[in-house]
Amino acid sequence: MRQAEIFSEITDFARQNQRPANVDFHMHTSYTDGADSIAGMYGKSCEVGLETILFSEHARYTSTDWFETFASEVRALPKEPCRALVGVEVKVENFDGSLDLHPEIMSQCDLVIASVHRFPGEEGQIMKTNGGFSLAEAEDLEFKLAMGALDNPELDILGHPFGMTVRRFGGGLPWSKMQLLIGKAKETGKAIEINARYHDEPKRLLKECLDAGVLISFGSNAHKLDEVAALHRHSDWNVAQDHA
Ligand SMILES: [Zn+2]
Ligand SMILES: [Zn+2]
Repeated sequence: MRQAEIFSEITDFARQNQRPANVDFHMHTSYTDGADSIAGMYGKSCEVGLETILFSEHARYTSTDWFETFASEVRALPKEPCRALVGVEVKVENFDGSLDLHPEIMSQCDLVIASVHRFPGEEGQIMKTNGGFSLAEAEDLEFKLAMGALDNPELDILGHPFGMTVRRFGGGLPWSKMQLLIGKAKETGKAIEINARYHDEPKRLLKECLDAGVLISFGSNAHKLDEVAALHRHSDWNVAQDHA
């Protein structure tokens, strides 16, 4: 785990305050499928009071042609009032936890997010199809891919766990499997991401993470300016919840 002290800090903050720390560790820019520039997203982050952000651009093994330019643009940003880290969001490729990540790209990153974006063998635009899988099968596949990835030392943050189950297959978060993932992340020293786009009950997920003592990452998954820090504006933080 790179930057372990940052995650300890933000997890402690969350424990004390029961809400996300002033960080957003998941955002995209016009380098890939985001609408806004690095400078634009950085400006917005400063405006809303974020202290540390991670530009977690989508990349593949083959993205070496542009990644260095992206990384230097992030590194050239001011250090105050907000610090910007270079990151990447890559997909989990297989049950053995291998990632679609070039070593040259990894070496330029402060942090690596790995997410389950598709099942092994799937190609093309798959988010609007079920690929022939039932919800139960999808849940199981996503779980196994994520468990494999948590064993991979290249991964720092498990991105939007069960995001496919929730958004592509319309399922609820499978809490008992989620607890197993959290336990695995705790054991391997990885951070579990709470993600604004995929997690409808972030407060409950935060509680599960805090109870288990796992490191936590907070991400909006912003693809445009007004989505920056979306997790912090989630109505869940204002509602008392009791899932006992
Ligand atoms: Zn993703
Ligand atoms: Zn993303």
